[in-house]
Amino acid sequence: MSSIIIIKNATVVSVDNAIGTVPNCDVLVEDGLIKAVGPGLEYPPAAIVLDATDSIVSPGFIDTHRHTWQTQLKTIGADYVLSDYILNLRQIYGASYSVHDAYLGNFCGALDSIDNGITYLIDHSHIANSPDHADAAIRGLQDARIRATFCYAMYANPHWSGSCVDKEREEATPDWRLEDVRRVATQFFAMSQPDDLLRLGFALSEPDMTPIDRLVHEIDFARSIGCKVITGHFNFGKWDPGNFIVRHFAQRGILGPDLLFSHGNTMADDELDAIAKHGCGISSTPDTELQMGMSHPVAFKARDRGCTAASLGVDVVCSAPADMFAQMRLILQAQRHLEHDAQEGAPLKMSRRCEEVLTLATMGGAKAVGLESVIGSVTPGKRADLLITRCDAPRMTPVHDPIGALVLYANASDIDTVIINGEIVKSGGKLTNIDWPKVRAELLASVDSIMKRASNVPMDDVKATRDYMVDTINVINQRRKVNRAKLS
Ligand SMILES: [Zn+2]
Repeated sequence: MSSIIIIKNATVVSVDNAIGTVPNCDVLVEDGLIKAVGPGLEYPPAAIVLDATDSIVSPGFIDTHRHTWQTQLKTIGADYVLSDYILNLRQIYGASYSVHDAYLGNFCGALDSIDNGITYLIDHSHIANSPDHADAAIRGLQDARIRATFCYAMYANPHWSGSCVDKEREEATPDWRLEDVRRVATQFFAMSQPDDLLRLGFALSEPDMTPIDRLVHEIDFARSIGCKVITGHFNFGKWDPGNFIVRHFAQRGILGPDLLFSHGNTMADDELDAIAKHGCGISSTPDTELQMGMSHPVAFKARDRGCTAASLGVDVVCSAPADMFAQMRLILQAQRHLEHDAQEGAPLKMSRRCEEVLTLATMGGAKAVGLESVIGSVTPGKRADLLITRCDAPRMTPVHDPIGALVLYANASDIDTVIINGEIVKSGGKLTNIDWPKVRAELLASVDSIMKRASNVPMDDVKATRDYMVDTINVINQRRKVNRAKLS
């Protein structure tokens, strides 16, 4: 028997140019698919009826850059710059995660996302301390019922005495992760389809620390085993050593729509043009980029240069919430500020509209992950990943402009219902089928065990790591000077 949901009497913000924004509109969902969008739709008596009077129906948000495992570290990086983050998260806390911690980080991170209206995640998963960690991270996403692409990252957390990284494995087979992606591809993703909830992706070794031939090899390998998205960190402002890797990729002829470049703040114009030409994705992460000295987010500039797959990501929850409303606001107002400031005199015309940033958070994301025909808008024929956002709270009354309300006013508490693949995963403002007090207690126990391991990190190892960071930063600064000088 088919399952049918009818959403009645909503203001539909479709993010589909052919449909637009429609008041007093219904949405019919059948077997996980959007069947029809329009006023006064007919439906069978067995349908689940959701009254969306005084509410906005919109596509779920698409977060194209997240390290989901970091859920247990929320607020720890509130005053971090990037070097603090790399030292603490990537050298100490990551190595302190057990298999169970990786599971709970991903499970609770996905739940948190759903609560905030994020229905799709790129999980850039650099928590593979062992093959079991990778499996646990996958199971966490599956159990939360979110739509996601699990991008298996090549990054190796360091092994120190008491860490959860196996020194023997790392020293005997430092490249074991590459072969393990092949295992994961066979074990979990052998029959992968575009509309599957979970798909397999790949996250490159840190590009600025890796020879170009190795990066090309990783891309070829990921494609050969069927990874749908290949992602990595590129060109982040003051931390960009000026290697122009995308230019090298273009020269090697390996750019394609399966590549997703996170950050890209200081990409050269010819690199953005190559990305636009080959349909690659870009993910701007306004919170981390503006906080951590990574320069101005590139998403609007990328769109202006023809990159329709420009999108938004949350990145790390150690310093910002898993909240796409916040990302939209931050990047929009930062961009308006930049463009107003660049003008002579007072700005008499608004440079950027709310609609454009809502597109970044929805359709732009769908394009960035190769799913523009599956998700990203309220369009008949697409999978039903939908939000019902109430407009009856004091903050949301009245609403003259529904897109403005979503972009500048709403927050997670206004989201009454979240539907993923036709399944209601948040209803009446609460996650469905989740015993949150029980899950929260497990999460807090996991936090305690991570903090305990991290506090026992041998001081000599921390010192070595700190020295390594200082050396790395000096190398980056030096290389930037040389590379930029070559250009001028
Ligand atoms: Zn990142």
